[in-house]
Amino acid sequence: MTVSPPTRGTRWRRTLCGGLPRLDVTRSSTVVEYVHHDLAGEPRTGEREVVGETIESARCHWCNAVDEVELVDRPAAGS
Ligand SMILES: [Zn+2]
Repeated sequence: MTVSPPTRGTRWRRTLCGGLPRLDVTRSSTVVEYVHHDLAGEPRTGEREVVGETIESARCHWCNAVDEVELVDRPAAGS
C-alpha cells in the first residue's frame, strides 16, 4: 500500500491511536544524478534532481501499526 503525502492544506492523522503522528516513513525516490569522472577515473556526483517520490509505508513510531494514517485538513493558521 502506498500512502499519500501531506500537502499544503492537509496533514497526517493516526486512525488508530489518534493525535499527532510520529511515523517511521519508508520513502523511495527516483533521482537523476549528474555523474562525471575526474582525470583519475573517480566518479563524482554533481547535481541531484528528485523526479519522483513514493511513500512505501508509514509506520506508527508508538504502536507500530502500518499505514493507519489518513489525511485531514490542517487547522487554518491565523485565520
Ligand atoms: Zn500508533
